[in-house]
Amino acid sequence: MGGLHQGHQSLLALADRARAARGGRVLLSVFVNPLQFGPAEDLDRYPRDLGADAQLAAAAGADALFAPSVAELYPGGPAELTRLLPPASLVEGLCGRSRPGHFAGVATVVARLLALVRPDVLWLGEKDWQQLVILRRLVADLGLPLVVRSGPTLRQADGLPLSSRNRYLSPQQQQQALALPRSLAAAAQQARQAQAGARDSQGSLSLASLIEAVRSGLLQAGLVVDYVEAVEPRSLRSVETLQTSPLLLAAAAYCGTTRLIDHVFLMRRPPIIAIDGPAGAGKSTVTKAFAARLGLIYLDTGAMYRAVTWLVAAAGVDPAAAGAVGGLLADLDLQLSTSAEGAQRVTINGQDVTEAIRSPEITSLVSVVAAHGCVREALTRQQQAMGARGGLVAEGRDIGTAVFPDAELKVFLTATVGERARRRALDLAQKGFAVPELAELAAQIAERDHLDSSRAVAPLIQAADAVELITDGLSIAAVIDQLELLFRERVPADAWPGPAPA
Ligand code: C5P
Repeated sequence: MGGLHQGHQSLLALADRARAARGGRVLLSVFVNPLQFGPAEDLDRYPRDLGADAQLAAAAGADALFAPSVAELYPGGPAELTRLLPPASLVEGLCGRSRPGHFAGVATVVARLLALVRPDVLWLGEKDWQQLVILRRLVADLGLPLVVRSGPTLRQADGLPLSSRNRYLSPQQQQQALALPRSLAAAAQQARQAQAGARDSQGSLSLASLIEAVRSGLLQAGLVVDYVEAVEPRSLRSVETLQTSPLLLAAAAYCGTTRLIDHVFLMRRPPIIAIDGPAGAGKSTVTKAFAARLGLIYLDTGAMYRAVTWLVAAAGVDPAAAGAVGGLLADLDLQLSTSAEGAQRVTINGQDVTEAIRSPEITSLVSVVAAHGCVREALTRQQQAMGARGGLVAEGRDIGTAVFPDAELKVFLTATVGERARRRALDLAQKGFAVPELAELAAQIAERDHLDSSRAVAPLIQAADAVELITDGLSIAAVIDQLELLFRERVPADAWPGPAPA
């Protein structure tokens, strides 16, 4: 809506950086949309300074500014316009409650702008989180051919989130308004301390008391509270306990006549991403690259099952004999380490088996070994210990179901058997192994899928809350881009910034 500030500028900088990597142009729209203002709201006094907006946009790398008049954008007049209605579940809480019709106005204008401009990417700020969620849903529900990307909330040094409406505030009100970010930050801090305490099985904290603390912080500063609410960030459904993670704690308050909003995300630990799927779906390549992109630890659990299988084969034990296999697990020392170059090494009982575990022989035995309850129990325990502090991307067959059921993002990565056989053939050739016929490889892959999906303990299945990603015809880069979009819908930069973008 114009009144541009450094928050918009930072979003333009993100778009500009993405454009530098992928090409394209950056267009900024400025339109103070009458449809999204209520009768008693600040439509008339909303800051309008197209000259300053144009300067900032140009300096931040925009190629064009699109600033239509109301008559140009709504030639038939607002009364004659087809409106879009976001789902009730997304508008009944937070800002929607006290601003009836606001998000319908936002959805209507954005759909129209998107239809006119037809961008590949829509960039939005996380500051207006409810708006971002509603517009993502709009894009998904209408099947619009674009992706939505978001940038973090920018703040002044004193913590006040940048907003066009801040220019309504007198210097004294600016001080008063700080109660909003400060009360929310204090709540986040309290939640972190309580969670750290809970790990040592002390301390407990109720969400209701946190909300109350924010509310009283706002009241004490003389702000008039519109709402303080805790919701699940994607569905915007109210939550009652601190169990949800990430959890959005959001507030709106009036400072004089100026309505201000702010939020914090509460997270119990750095994120975990679970990538499951059948053999040869490209999990390793994708998971490794995605972990590097986010600066997270990469955990290849297949390598652990392969290492145990190597031990079974080396000991000359029958892979199907649970008792004998279990006997090898007593003093198991299984280590995954990453070299300075980023290569993962696997050692078992002191022996480096990094290459050996990739042989066709191990591949043909691993599903039988991995089906034993004792093997699964030992490796699941170790994997959970490795993930206790979060901050990893793990791939396997049971990560989202058995190992990390509370992962922030679960993906079921798959491809047709034919496609997976072709990939496996390339992989074998690259590693210097003999390459069987494609039909033979397809049969082996189907057999491994069958064993993995039909075993009694922790079978390969798609978790109910996993996103299925079918990778036939997709490049690795395209899969990673998809993962990043899915991840950022669930764990926004405001919740967990991750590494600075390259
Ligand atoms: O992914 P990769 O091909 O290295 O996995 C080898 C085998 O290890 C799988 O076919 C499966 O039998 C087993 N596995 C498992 N659970 C995991 C990871 C791998 O059972 N989490």
